[in-house]
Parts: sequence; structure tokens; C-alpha cells
Amino acid sequence: MASGVARVDLDGGPIKPMTICMIGAGGFIGSHLCEKLMAETPHKVLALDVYSDKIKHLLEPATLPWADRIQFHRLNIKHDSRLEGLIKMSDLTINLAAICTPADYNTRPLDTIYSNFIDALPVVKYCSENGKRLIHFSTCEVYGKTIGSFLPKDSPLRQDPAYYMLSEDASPCIFGPIEKQRWSYACAKQLIERLIYAEGAENGLEFTIVRPFNWIGPRMDFIPGIDGPSEGVPRVLACFSNALLRHQQLKLVDGGQSQRTFIFIKDAIEAVLLMIENPARANGHIFNVGNPNNEVTVRQLAEMMTQVYSKVSDEAPLEVPTVDVSSKEFYGEGYDDSDKRIPDMTIINRQLGWNPKTSLWDLLESTLTYQHRTYAEAIKKAMSKPVAT
Ligand code: NAD
Repeated sequence: MASGVARVDLDGGPIKPMTICMIGAGGFIGSHLCEKLMAETPHKVLALDVYSDKIKHLLEPATLPWADRIQFHRLNIKHDSRLEGLIKMSDLTINLAAICTPADYNTRPLDTIYSNFIDALPVVKYCSENGKRLIHFSTCEVYGKTIGSFLPKDSPLRQDPAYYMLSEDASPCIFGPIEKQRWSYACAKQLIERLIYAEGAENGLEFTIVRPFNWIGPRMDFIPGIDGPSEGVPRVLACFSNALLRHQQLKLVDGGQSQRTFIFIKDAIEAVLLMIENPARANGHIFNVGNPNNEVTVRQLAEMMTQVYSKVSDEAPLEVPTVDVSSKEFYGEGYDDSDKRIPDMTIINRQLGWNPKTSLWDLLESTLTYQHRTYAEAIKKAMSKPVAT
């Protein structure tokens, strides 16, 4: 921990050092959360994942100032008897483990449902049976489509927040038909939320549910062919970064008309730390964590990323930087999408006094600077290799 000053919670009470069992600690969000906990708090982390590449810089060398506060356990929660013991040893469990890339929802629906529902069941059970607090990561996808999306295109009601604002305690969850397998992820996340809520109501489980709204930043997913499979399709930030790094056109699925709000990972991590350290204010709540001020269509995101990348790489953008593709061509059969996602911030504001800070331009500048620094050389090398015939 950087300073010797005692940490206090939002009500002025002292924060006692705790042990946190973090499942999925080796992923995008986990890596940033571990960094924050090591740099700014006295808490100890038992980091569980099947991969550790994204937190390697926190685990080695053994001389790091926090070396005695982080332990990596390589395990798959699907089948590992160590899980219950690690949860029992901790004061708090944070579950981040999931298959959470849209390209998988309709092409690997079984894996998606198992990962987001079945595999999370023992985690909830062990927390409930052992009286341990749980922070579970759900998703903004549980809202599905907005009510407004069912109104006629030219209806003035579409401009009324009552028809699009997504509120934890008021909005319905609206999914497409079963054959649109895209909704397998959202539906599995919704059911695990309902189970956790019921464990709270019937058995007194102390829980907090987080609904992230498009958190983006360094270390998100992978760049295909460099630190991930060549044929893999990561989430939109990495897809667009990959195209920019390779000087290729950015593919806009169905015209890129979906609207999203993007939040910088570092702002979002501040919110999670407040939840960790203020259990009395966070327990029993579901929190939207997003930035309602950073709304764009995916097309606008592509245009902005093109501009920002040109600035940070000092390379001229392509004359026609984007190309339209159909969702069937890009994601395959069974794809569907949420039209618009604006998080209502009332509850998180009231409970934790938290607000996002970083503008979309600034977060893209910081993230694309990282992408360029980390991958540009490797991509150049990979692209100059002769292709096998
Ligand atoms: P990520 O894929 O980068 O991280 C998930 C981690 O979980 C990976 O490191 C993976 O190896 C690990 N994992 C998966 N299955 C496991 C298993 N069976 N055993 C052990 N480890 C396992 O994803 P992320 O972006 O860090 O997301 C974390 C959580 O937040 C997920 O639950 C996701 O659904 C949710 N979420 C994230 C966003 C976002 O904007 N990043 C949006 C909505 C929801």
C-alpha cells in the first residue's frame, strides 16, 4: 500500500484488511482490480483462474512490495475441489469467471449457459453455506432490448427516458425468441442473479450484483493471431483495434446502428472498490456501472477510434475506414442485439456516491496508445511473414 494513512469507509469507519477470493482474476476486469487492490489497499487476494498472463506483472518477481498479499491458484471452477476451501479462507468472494464474448453466445450456447449459470452455482452455494459475502459479476445484457425499441421508428416517445433508461429496480428484462441464441448469455446471467437474490432473501446470503455497461481499456480480450487464436472474434474494442493495427477496414455489423455507452475500466474499478470496502452500503444491491455521458452508435465508435488511432500512431487513416457486414455473415445464425443501453445511475450514486469521470475521447486515447505500444511491432512482424500456400 502506498501510504501509511488508515483507510476509512464512506461512513468514516476504519476498513479492516480482508482476504478476497477472486475467481476469474486473470481476465480483463480481474487484472485491473488486482492492480488496484495491490497498489492502494492492504487487502490480500487469492487469485483464481485458468490463465495468469494478464496478472503476471503482479505475481513476479517475488520482490514486489505486495508479493505476500497475492497468491495465484491455477484452477478451473468447473471441477476443482479446492474451490470451497479457498472461499472458506476468504472474507469476500468476487466472481468474474464467465464466457462473455458475443461471438460465443450463438455459436457456443451450451458452453455459454454452463459457464454463466451452472459453473457459478457452487460459488453461490459455498458462499451461502459458509456465511461469506459475494460480489457477483452479471451484465447490462440482462436488460436485453429497450421498451422503446418496440415503438414505431418515428414515435416521439423514443426520446423519453422512460422508454430507454435501464434501471436496476424498475426495468424489465426483454429478450428475443429462443432460436435467437444470442440471448443464452443474458438469460443465464439473469437466472444466476435471481438465484443469488433468492439466496439473500431465503438464506441471508450477503451479496452485491454488478451489471457492467461496456467497460473498456487496456488488456481487454486479445488481438487475433498475436495473443489469441487467429480465427477468434473478441469484443468490439479488440476487433476494431485489430483492424486499425493491421490497416484494415473496421467491420460494422448491420450498419453499426446499435447504441452503447462506454466506460473507462479505471473509473469502473473505483466503483468496485467502493463496493468491496462499504459492505453495509453495497450488500443486497444490484448496481449498474456505466457512463451515461459516453453514448455513441457503434459506427460513431469506429469513426472516433479511427481518428484517435491516427493521432497516437501518427499514421494516416484509410480513405474508407469502415465496411458494412451482415450480422449473419459476422456472427452466424441466431444473432440478435440490444438496441440501446443507457444506465440509470441513481442507485449507485445514492449508495456509494460514485460517478464516472473519463470522456470517451480520453479513454480511447489512453487505450489505443496502449494497443499501439503493445501490438504494433508484433503485428508488423506477423504481417511480413510469407503466407504458407
Ligand atoms: P474476461 O474473459 O477477460 O475474464 C474472465 C476470466 O474468467 C478469464 O480470465 C477466464 O480465464 C476466467 N474463467 C472463465 N471460466 C473459468 C473457469 N471455469 N474457471 C476459472 N476461471 C475461469 O472477461 P471480463 O471482461 O474481465 O469480465 C468479467 C465478468 O464481467 C464476466 O462475468 C462478464 O460476464 C462480466 N461483464 C463484463 C463486461 C465488460 O464490459 N468487460 C460487460 C458485462 C459483463
